[in-house]
Amino acid sequence: MKHTLCIIKPDATRRALTGEILALIESQGLKIKALKWLHLSRKEAQDFYIVHKERPFYSELVEMMISHPVTIAVLEAPGAVEKYRNLMGATNPAQATAGTIRAKYAISMGENSVHGSDSLENAQKEISYFFSQREIF
Ligand code: GDP
Repeated sequence: MKHTLCIIKPDATRRALTGEILALIESQGLKIKALKWLHLSRKEAQDFYIVHKERPFYSELVEMMISHPVTIAVLEAPGAVEKYRNLMGATNPAQATAGTIRAKYAISMGENSVHGSDSLENAQKEISYFFSQREIF
């Protein structure tokens, strides 16, 4: 069993899609092992997306991530990282496969409703950024 980190982003929170997205995730066999509702600070959003610091959309990304609360989850499944990335769909919703979360719910490249770790190594880093071991069941 492997884990990945999921964030339901502010655009989805704002449109009251949290429950629907979590239900879709669970229906695909990704088990919720930890769950938290958080309003990220600017510093937390900046640090979480530090790899994108030099990208032109970085400040827009940070502002978007702190605009509303987010739901953060640890998901578990065999091949969790790839399984959840497949369920999320492409970063740009115009290119997301039908039936994926981003095809269904995303508004734009920036407001694309969900985050998911892109490798096992990053999943471990991102999970420990938000959760202590005793919060994961
Ligand atoms: P992801 O792994 O599919 O989320 O995509 P990336 O790691 O490439 O980008 C991280 C996040 O930055 C994306 O999910 C978007 O929210 C945001 N982002 C990426 N590209 C753009 C862009 O061109 N414009 C804006 N506004 N946001 C972007």
